[in-house]
Amino acid sequence: MPTIVQKFGGSSVGDAPRIRRAAQRIAEARSAGFDVVVVASAMGHTTDSLIALAEEVAAHPDRRELDMLMATGEQASVSLLAMALRELGLPASSLTGGQAGIRTDGVHGRARITRIECGRLERLLSRGEIPVVAGFQGTSDEGEITTLGRGGSDTTAVAIGAALHVAQAGGYCEIFTDVDGVYTADPRIVRGAVKLPRISYEEMLELATLGAAVMHARAVLFGEKYGVPIHVRHSQKPDHGTMISRENPGMEELAVVGCALKEDLGRVSIRQIKNVVGLQGQLFWALASANIVVDDIMQTEQGSATMIAFTLDHADLAEAKQILGKELLALNDGEMSVEVGLSKVSAVGVGMKSHAGVASRMFRALGDVGIAIHNITTSEIKMSCIIDAANGQRALNAVHAAFGLGLGSNATIAMQTDCERQ
Ligand code: ASP
Ligand code: MG
Repeated sequence: MPTIVQKFGGSSVGDAPRIRRAAQRIAEARSAGFDVVVVASAMGHTTDSLIALAEEVAAHPDRRELDMLMATGEQASVSLLAMALRELGLPASSLTGGQAGIRTDGVHGRARITRIECGRLERLLSRGEIPVVAGFQGTSDEGEITTLGRGGSDTTAVAIGAALHVAQAGGYCEIFTDVDGVYTADPRIVRGAVKLPRISYEEMLELATLGAAVMHARAVLFGEKYGVPIHVRHSQKPDHGTMISRENPGMEELAVVGCALKEDLGRVSIRQIKNVVGLQGQLFWALASANIVVDDIMQTEQGSATMIAFTLDHADLAEAKQILGKELLALNDGEMSVEVGLSKVSAVGVGMKSHAGVASRMFRALGDVGIAIHNITTSEIKMSCIIDAANGQRALNAVHAAFGLGLGSNATIAMQTDCERQ
């Protein structure tokens, strides 16, 4: 029997009726002949509330204690979900991340999964039981409870799918969420954005990192690395979702499949610093040691000195400033400045590799609506512009329109027909 991993996000288990509905979905998958492993997030906005509570008792809550606290959110939802399944006559057992064998590197607040010891999950499945696993958490080799970073339950689900080799027997991972799939752009910002029936891991990964909040980026990475197909579906109307899978030939027909807006970015610039060998390694090592994820990095020569700048999540700005301040003091060189209120608009598509004119079309689209571009970064399948946050939504709409991604566009229809053929 193929195994599917069904993951329910916070909104899908937000209250008792929704938990019962999630249990129904699980029962349906069982009736359809699948073995099921369930992963759940904390109910509704529980994680936010827990963090707010922590911040009421401490200005900078200790990361270890915060993990202990946040992990309780998922424990509540999985136990309730298991109870609801038992009500339907289905044998189910809830498990914490640690009980499910999820081992992490022990970094509080942003731990990475190092391995999954599948014994317990496999035993439960072989007995016909449904393991209901708390997402977003795991334990380190020292037994410390660690969380995987906000939105981390997706990663738990796909990692379990990979560890159980579900794809080998025709299984996959289902992500039930409050959106019904992956769109050409965030439909709340771009009216006329259309849902993609299928998208490659590579494209989804770019969109996820660029702020398309559909999926946790690391979950997509796991999916790609271990070949776990990921089906994103709406928990209330789950008929047509988006399947994230390996790239297929038809996917290259379009230069751009989607656009995204990443908001709340800050930029750190270090000017007038002597470009000694090893400088970049030293500065970014310091940031990496604090597990700060840097977005785009730029460097330009300034006469005999150099300028290094990078964007990063607004939330990490204060910590980055403090860390680099110390480094510059030690070097006795360089001037640091920080900016806030930036956003990044991006266009993504594997077809970009073989299509010309993508950059010019994007820049003209922004220019035509009077939006200044502060920085440009590109990869093989992505083109990004840093702009003022105030222009973000207008920029996304302009880029979406420029690539003909909207409703009724020929390009999009071609893509859909092609995907439906697959
Ligand atoms: N409950 C966690 C969060 O809100 C994990 C998740 O939802 O995936 O970030
Ligand atoms: Mg979530």
